[in-house]
Amino acid sequence: MKLQKPKGTQDILPKESAKWQYVEAFARKTFGKYNYQEIRTPIFEHYEVISRSVGDTTDIVSKEMYDFYDKGDRHITLRPEGTAPVVRSYVENKLFAPEVQKPVKLYYMGSMFRYERPQAGRLREFHQIGVECFGSSNPATDVETIAMAAQFFKEIGIQNITLHLNTLGNSASRAAYRKALIDYLTPLKETLSKDSQRRLEENPLRVLDSKEKEDKAAVENAPSILDYLDEESQAHFDSVRAMLDSLGIAYVIDTNMVRGLDYYNHTIFEFITEVSGSELTICAGGRYDGLVEYFDGPATPGFGFGMGMERLLLVLDKQGVELPVAQGLDVYIAVLGQEVNGKALEITQALRNQGFKVERDYLGRKLKAQFKSADQLNAKTVIALGDSEVEQGQVTVKNNQTREEITVSLAELTGNFKEIFEKIN
Ligand code: ATP
Ligand code: MG
Repeated sequence: MKLQKPKGTQDILPKESAKWQYVEAFARKTFGKYNYQEIRTPIFEHYEVISRSVGDTTDIVSKEMYDFYDKGDRHITLRPEGTAPVVRSYVENKLFAPEVQKPVKLYYMGSMFRYERPQAGRLREFHQIGVECFGSSNPATDVETIAMAAQFFKEIGIQNITLHLNTLGNSASRAAYRKALIDYLTPLKETLSKDSQRRLEENPLRVLDSKEKEDKAAVENAPSILDYLDEESQAHFDSVRAMLDSLGIAYVIDTNMVRGLDYYNHTIFEFITEVSGSELTICAGGRYDGLVEYFDGPATPGFGFGMGMERLLLVLDKQGVELPVAQGLDVYIAVLGQEVNGKALEITQALRNQGFKVERDYLGRKLKAQFKSADQLNAKTVIALGDSEVEQGQVTVKNNQTREEITVSLAELTGNFKEIFEKIN
């Protein structure tokens, strides 16, 4: 057995995790402005929660699930995406009840699992930040949610990101389109990939989503869903477009975009950017008006998106966006001699209790090495503590940048460091 991380997973070490925390906090702040609240669901679910809602013929369900039978012989899967679990929870916890304010706006962040071929921006354990909004079929909800993602990307500093928009219409429009697509693809069947030949029978819209070259060529002149929208579907799409225009949110219409999950209807969208010459989808979502009912809840419209954390960080990195991650200590305490070890602990704790970020030496190192640590840890102030300081009841607090110093009593230090700290910084 190899004592290494499984293929397609990552350890997030402290330098990176500071960025993760920043991005997560940024998302919480942005989503909060739109009155979203956090939901946390289990990392594993009953297989059935995912299989039929996401779609038996999707790549996620047919190839990428981490499923197993537990010791009680239950068919379990690690969650591959966030929407189905949140809908399951919405229904199970009766958030549809009249006393719960509508729409119900929920966000989540956490690990997702898909058995895929790992590459840049594609892992087996990856992380999504996602949102779901239940109870509004108003196209303003579609637009507000897309605008929220756009605001997030803009304010965090991502550039050259394009909103791709499409509609799948309601079920009548989709059925009409499905038929047209079968008529178009059937004569081309021999040219399609093996997977798409199968998809043609099971779920022809999936062929549009294929990443295979031969399939991409075949669907180039495929009929457009926009020619098959009925009145309701057309009206919804027109409203979404008009409202995006009125907010000044640019988009391109991409009629071959169908999304990798079966539960969508009406509006679907992706935010796509370019990394090292190829397109990368950072965020994707849309409307899913049938999903709550599918989980045996009352008919409830839904809208949401998921964004890939690793892809987001990849793009931020490639675009040279420096995240303002907090760093540095308020105080470093240099400890001179084993005799003052206990006193150093007391002082360190007293300063931490006053709210300061403090580190000290534990290893009895030479003073020079300790000062070097203070520099490397970006300490704003340094205090050296030895026998004589303890005897005299006084220490010198040094500003580690300006080298300015003040001498204060131990009582002042442990009693009211705030005043001293402000005086010297
Ligand atoms: P793709 O077409 O790239 O496989 P998808 O349609 O399967 O994407 P969704 O299920 O819509 O992706 O997931 C939403 C977002 O989650 C994606 O846009 C992407 O940013 C991220 N994501 C999906 N799968 C992975 C993965 N294996 N590794 C990292 N991020 C992922
Ligand atoms: Mg995928």
